[in-house]
Amino acid sequence: MSTPVTILGPSGRMGQALVAAAATRDDVRVAAALDRGDSSLQGKEIAPGVSVTALIDAALAAAPVYIDFTTSTATRAVAEVARGRRIAAVIGTTGLDAEANAALTALAEVAPVVAAPNFSVGVNLMLGLVAQAARALGQSWDAEIVELHHKAKRDAPSGTALGIARAIALARGQDLTQVGRYSRDGDIGPRVAGEIGALAVRGGDVVGEHTAYFFGAGERVEISHRATDRAIFAHGALRAAAWVVGKKPGRYDMLDVLGMR
Ligand code: NAD
Repeated sequence: MSTPVTILGPSGRMGQALVAAAATRDDVRVAAALDRGDSSLQGKEIAPGVSVTALIDAALAAAPVYIDFTTSTATRAVAEVARGRRIAAVIGTTGLDAEANAALTALAEVAPVVAAPNFSVGVNLMLGLVAQAARALGQSWDAEIVELHHKAKRDAPSGTALGIARAIALARGQDLTQVGRYSRDGDIGPRVAGEIGALAVRGGDVVGEHTAYFFGAGERVEISHRATDRAIFAHGALRAAAWVVGKKPGRYDMLDVLGMR
């Protein structure tokens, strides 16, 4: 039995990847698609019998779970309606503002919500490897993250880079809000001991690349992941959608879906 899914933003880069990936799977099927009123896809059929709508309530009524790779504004608006219907959610949108995060927290009180800054299997493996390295090497090794993305990406550093930084901080017993360093410019003096840097590079059509560096004296360790196809995120999110229906209300991430906890 395939799980019906509502897709948000089918005209976007990830929305298109989700619709294409869903067509190749038998565990999920697209039951509805929601996009902005001015989307060129409005009213068009994007899957058998599924036309794009701008009506949130109608789109959410069609399936027990929705997948959201959009913007903070859309994430908040849709989560508020989903809360009334107790609809499960898979959230890939990054750079969420406080209002969107609050709406997801409220939704997770009544429905299961999987949220992850990165839905690829490889990046989730990388998070575990990075934590292991940080624990083994300790704070005397300087940790820095460099991420590359396409030129249309809005938020920086990427949600994934922040997730990697959080994993390093947690493994070293640090509070990322105190030690995160996301820009360097001017006469800033030597590197502050223990800080965790995350720097963004933007250009072209790069799908997403992350490298965590650990600099020791006379040596360094690099742990890298390179995404070359958005299909990896789409398949991860669709797998999460099939997994999350029927789970208890609460927040989950991709490690729960992959059984890596
Ligand atoms: P995009 O700009 O190509 O697509 C965004 C889509 O959202 C568009 O279709 C747009 O019309 C739609 N949208 C905007 N407002 C809407 C509204 N009010 N209602 C319905 N739809 C609305 O962006 P993208 O490259 O697809 O990325 C989207 C988000 O996903 C970003 O935050 C990005 O960082 C994130 N992302 C996450 C992962 C992951 O694995 N978690 C992977 C890739 C991208």
